[in-house]
Amino acid sequence: MTDPRDRSDELEGRPVQQYVFDFSQGSKDDKDLLGGKGANLAEMTRLGLPVPPGFTITTAACRHYLDTGAEPESLAQEVGAHLAALQEKTGKRLGDPEDPLLVSVRSGAKHSMPGMMETVLNVGLTDISVIGLAARSGDNRFAWDSYRRLIQMFGKTVLGIDGEIFDERLEARKKARQAEADVELEAGDLRMLVEEFKDIVLVESGRDFPQDPRQQLDLAIRAVFESWNTERARIYRRQERIPDELGTAVNVCAMVFGNLGPDSGTGVAFTRDPATGEQGVYGDYLSNAQGEDVVAGIRNTLPLADLEHLDQASYDELLNIMATLERHYRDLCDIEFTIERGKLWMLQTRVGKRTAAAAFRIAGQLADEGLIDEDEALQRVTGEQLARLMFPQFDPAAPRDLVARGMGASPGAAVGKAAFDSATAVAWSDAGDDVILVRRETNPDDLRGMVASRGVLTSRGGKTSHAAVVARGMGRTCVVGVEALRVDPGERAFTTPDGTRVVEGDVISIDGGTGEVYLGEVPVVPSAVVDALHGDDAAIDQDDEVVTAVLRLMKHADGRRRLGVRANADTPDDARRARQLGAGGIGLCRTEHMFLGPRRKVVERVILARTDEQRTEALDELRPVQRADFTEILEAMDGLPVTIRLLDPPLHEFLPDLTDLSVRVAVAEATGQHDTEAAELLAEVRRLDETNPMLGMRGVRLGLVIPELFALQVRAIAEATADLRQQGRDPRPEIMVPLVAAVQELESVREMALTTIADVARAHRIELSIPIGTMIELPRAAMTAHQIAEVAEFFSFGTNDLTQTTWGFSRDDVEAAFFPAYLEKGIFGVSPFESIDEEGVGRLVSIAAWEGKESRTDLKVGVCGEHGGDPASIHFFEKILLDYVSCSPFRVPVARLEAGRARSDAGQREASG
Ligand code: ADP
Ligand code: MG
Ligand code: MG
Repeated sequence: MTDPRDRSDELEGRPVQQYVFDFSQGSKDDKDLLGGKGANLAEMTRLGLPVPPGFTITTAACRHYLDTGAEPESLAQEVGAHLAALQEKTGKRLGDPEDPLLVSVRSGAKHSMPGMMETVLNVGLTDISVIGLAARSGDNRFAWDSYRRLIQMFGKTVLGIDGEIFDERLEARKKARQAEADVELEAGDLRMLVEEFKDIVLVESGRDFPQDPRQQLDLAIRAVFESWNTERARIYRRQERIPDELGTAVNVCAMVFGNLGPDSGTGVAFTRDPATGEQGVYGDYLSNAQGEDVVAGIRNTLPLADLEHLDQASYDELLNIMATLERHYRDLCDIEFTIERGKLWMLQTRVGKRTAAAAFRIAGQLADEGLIDEDEALQRVTGEQLARLMFPQFDPAAPRDLVARGMGASPGAAVGKAAFDSATAVAWSDAGDDVILVRRETNPDDLRGMVASRGVLTSRGGKTSHAAVVARGMGRTCVVGVEALRVDPGERAFTTPDGTRVVEGDVISIDGGTGEVYLGEVPVVPSAVVDALHGDDAAIDQDDEVVTAVLRLMKHADGRRRLGVRANADTPDDARRARQLGAGGIGLCRTEHMFLGPRRKVVERVILARTDEQRTEALDELRPVQRADFTEILEAMDGLPVTIRLLDPPLHEFLPDLTDLSVRVAVAEATGQHDTEAAELLAEVRRLDETNPMLGMRGVRLGLVIPELFALQVRAIAEATADLRQQGRDPRPEIMVPLVAAVQELESVREMALTTIADVARAHRIELSIPIGTMIELPRAAMTAHQIAEVAEFFSFGTNDLTQTTWGFSRDDVEAAFFPAYLEKGIFGVSPFESIDEEGVGRLVSIAAWEGKESRTDLKVGVCGEHGGDPASIHFFEKILLDYVSCSPFRVPVARLEAGRARSDAGQREASG
């Protein structure tokens, strides 16, 4: 006997292409061919669960149809054979005037795709068979209800008729009968509706509702194939990077009826609470209902637990099945079921979606129960989920007035006064108020207002709208697409669904994670997860299952990961915070802020110096303060590497604004008070003014033109190091040169730096060696990495600038101007500033890392762009074997988790061959 699970001859390597498989032939591993829904229906059938019989038409058949414009030749015959088998199994015949078989036609691609065709139920009903159905079931009302549903769904999804036309007619009928819900309509009403619906079909589609059941079936199958290429589906795929050529499967399933009276019904269930992860019975049930009634909100549903009192036997069986499914899938399952006159039927299952808190909790629980090991538990959570748990949250205990819900586009909990235009937002924020900018949708003119606000709320748009993209880029809390709110910018007010008017200045609260909007101020509490991650054991609530699960999985991730995780930190405070959150050093310490504030005047003098003496004098004033800056940071990171980047921005950033200064000088001239200093400064500012500062005199270019600047910084670093060493500390600075394009630039800076360091060492009578490396943030640097590595002791990829210079666009301009359009059109699924563009920028990184290590085997290679904290990018950096990533202190735990996940994932892949 062969292993019954061995279906290699059925599914793979079959000489003749088979396009249709019975539910009993597949398994959950056949998602490519059978789609997710079909594969899981097959799996449940295999497990012996009560699934109504049926068959799945493969994605290959769909691909054939889409490629050639016609179904595969053998398809009609194969469907016929499976239909015959189905008729045999059920003892009913499609279109039988006495006792008709009815089926549902359900789309189901490999990846769940909301943009596709909806399901058509009750296929097989006709003017004749509806009479048979009524007689057989002994329920006239049920038969006519089923028929009107078929015409409605078929009209809408197969014939493309606007669904509202049917809905309006249904509402009109309910009104005429003074009925609250559709269950109150009687057989006669429904029969009249059927006539009206058939008229709609004729008028709107120019053809009669088909009375041949097999034709209904074939048309529905074809409609599912075609729905793969609807505009909605295409855009969805481009955004989610789902390949266009996969195609969808079609599931044909014998109907079971939840609308056969009070002992029937339909429901959805979860094996654990998808909101909190708590164990128990969760779900909704609606008696005397069919299909999507339960989620459509047409009547009030019952909590699933109430089913126990309605139908104890079905309830017990359902609970048993749920336990079986969970053990089998080893995860939270999401289930659709129907009860037909006391008999339970399973209609769908899949691994269910869940909130961030539930994800951690469930992973911990399943590991405790021994269903999964720690590695797998780690795969069940994501860095994004961890990030969500790290944001401050609205106090769960506080009362709140929820008025509407949209899409959470950028997480966080924000409270502020509603402002309806940018100017107001800026004015109020300048006056010290917290502001929420409320718009229908935002455009580039709203940028200033968005910067000034704590959060942004729009009534339109999706996750790729202008507001969403820009807010995410700036880390502002943002809720979009709250369509229930009527925003009236002219009136400076919005109206909630219950008619409440919120005017300019009223306080509102928005939750960028859940998309919820509240009136008034909801108190914000810090995240318990952040407190726990800070490593203060006393602060950890051992009863908080989310916290304990996070800590446990973090520990496992740290044990697993190969990638180092450092932080981008410019100040001692940030450095300390990063260290608490588990950073293994600083990957990027920017130094520009050390030249701002009161020190700006001194920098002006450096720039304006006429003679070397004047310049040295000014620089000498900066040295002690600069040394103190470094001392503090190196102290905070004692024993860990600190990569200090030499001055990077263009000089004019330290000088007064050109326009302001011109005005000042012009006013002075006009009033006859000539101000020589201002005039000289103006001339210098003019000279330094650049059309495109991003590509101008900055980074190493500046360091070579004014060598004293870099020399000052190197000396301050060396002196701070020497001082600390002499105090018995263990400072580990690394000097990083920005914006290098050619090895000669780095050679020149390195020579100067080595001389300066040697000087300091001599003066302190100690040995001093400080690694000198470079950022790789220009394509030329990446392409000449083999040369640069001969001079550089480490590389740090500045992936923000590398993305800008590789794509040739400036982030500030493009994110506001055209990224939303690009995302909408699917040019890219996610902004290349959020996730590394693997094919372009990522390729440069990988080539440079590889060639760099060829030149110098012990070259340390890291990433210090924002991508260092992005989960998808971290997996890529693990794949190309970089040494570390560096990100903002707050993202450090996220990066640790993802670095561990990337590793344990790779381990599992290796293990499974
Ligand atoms: P979706 O992909 O939107 O979940 P489904 O194919 O699962 O679509 O079907 C939509 C609704 O119709 C669900 O509530 C499902 O349970 C119900 N349904 C599908 N097939 C049948 C059937 N054969 N008998 C009864 N209800 C069905
Ligand atoms: Mg479903
Ligand atoms: Mg840079």
